[in-house]
Amino acid sequence: MSTTATKLLIVDDEPLMRALTAQIFRQRGHEVQTAVDGFSALRTMRSWMPDVLISDLNMPGMSGFELLSIVRRRLAAIYVVATSGAYTGEELPVGIAADAFHAKGTGIKALVEQIEISAKERPSLLRGLSASAPIWTSRSKTAASGERPGGTAYAMISCPECMRALPQVLSDEIMTIHETKCMYCETPVHYAVVQELNPATSQPFGLARQE
Ligand SMILES: [Zn+2]
Repeated sequence: MSTTATKLLIVDDEPLMRALTAQIFRQRGHEVQTAVDGFSALRTMRSWMPDVLISDLNMPGMSGFELLSIVRRRLAAIYVVATSGAYTGEELPVGIAADAFHAKGTGIKALVEQIEISAKERPSLLRGLSASAPIWTSRSKTAASGERPGGTAYAMISCPECMRALPQVLSDEIMTIHETKCMYCETPVHYAVVQELNPATSQPFGLARQE
């Protein structure tokens, strides 16, 4: 039976494991790219979207745990396989946002078969999903924002790609979309400042429904 060529992104900090896995899938006619950690995987996915993501869990920089939760949340169409040498068996360790788990050292044949079947069944629907939607933040004082002595307002926003907190000095322009670049994964991040609410009267969820 012929198999459909699949685009695979292999994320592993171990060069040998990366090269070996990539070679096996390339020999079977698949298109493969590799990344050394979560940040590098997210950078790759900005211009090249895989059908399947195979990620190690324990990596320096951005771990597989963080990467998989971001991918699951934002790119649900990607078939995600977590790999690790720290767990055994075929059971998915608790709390990992993946479709399947592959224990390292249990033979790659099962992994290949699983991916070739799964990737065919799973249509790739979400392409080019990007961080274009702005993150909204408020100038009001919260635990994560405040007012400096000089009167400059700032806030912490989270990069939508790598989830790291980015301190931003806020200008007076409210309801305007600003662009900054994440200092960690280099993703362009769009954010906007909402009108400050009076903390005494604001009801955070009151605007969502009118009944
Ligand atoms: Zn980032």
